[in-house]
Amino acid sequence: MNITQRPSPNFTEGRKGRKIIAIVNHITAGLMPGTLSLMCNPIAKASAHYLITKIGEIYQLVDDNNRAWHAGEVRKPNWSLYDGTNPNYCTLGIEHEALAGESLTDKQYEATLWLHKMLTQKWNIPIDTDHIIGHYRLDSVNRKNDPGPKFPWSRLIYNMKGGSGMADTEGKSPCVHDINGVLFPGFLKGGTAFLYSDNGIPIRDVAAAFSHGIEWNGDTQTVIIRTGKLGEKK
Ligand SMILES: [Zn+2]
Repeated sequence: MNITQRPSPNFTEGRKGRKIIAIVNHITAGLMPGTLSLMCNPIAKASAHYLITKIGEIYQLVDDNNRAWHAGEVRKPNWSLYDGTNPNYCTLGIEHEALAGESLTDKQYEATLWLHKMLTQKWNIPIDTDHIIGHYRLDSVNRKNDPGPKFPWSRLIYNMKGGSGMADTEGKSPCVHDINGVLFPGFLKGGTAFLYSDNGIPIRDVAAAFSHGIEWNGDTQTVIIRTGKLGEKK
């Protein structure tokens, strides 16, 4: 895929020695070409490293080594890696052209999948829901719907980990199993979650057999399993 350079003045040089540890996904809540012009306008005081349009174009606005102004304000965060500092120091921001409540287009999904794969390899970012996050995890007050409930978290993580496609002809759709913090791809069929590698036994039956704690997070399509009780530290 092709990345078009479209430099924005809305950034701060460098990362003060901090490593890039996560990708923060956003939606623009505005459309092209205005949304790109705005992120390149100094009056906006906002930007992201990348913008992916509905037709699947990828623009780079800020160099990865600099701090784009995409996630600076933190309100009631829900991110286990948050350390109290400005998240712009340690994250990359990807904007997606979409209005509130819209899904990504197929071309946009393919572009963001490609970009996520490229960036996680380049910066050695783990593929899990602590390192691939949405803006709402940093600001759950004003950015509740950024990137919104239709953002394809489970499909993205499943495809990044090497799974292909979306739902298959048997009606399976991807989900994620978080087992003691390690993620495994799986699938849902008829509302029941299965691991890919297993012999067709629902994961909840396996967890019950060993008295493991099990919970479901519908937002991220993740089955959470702890071999101790849930709520205890790993
Ligand atoms: Zn945002």
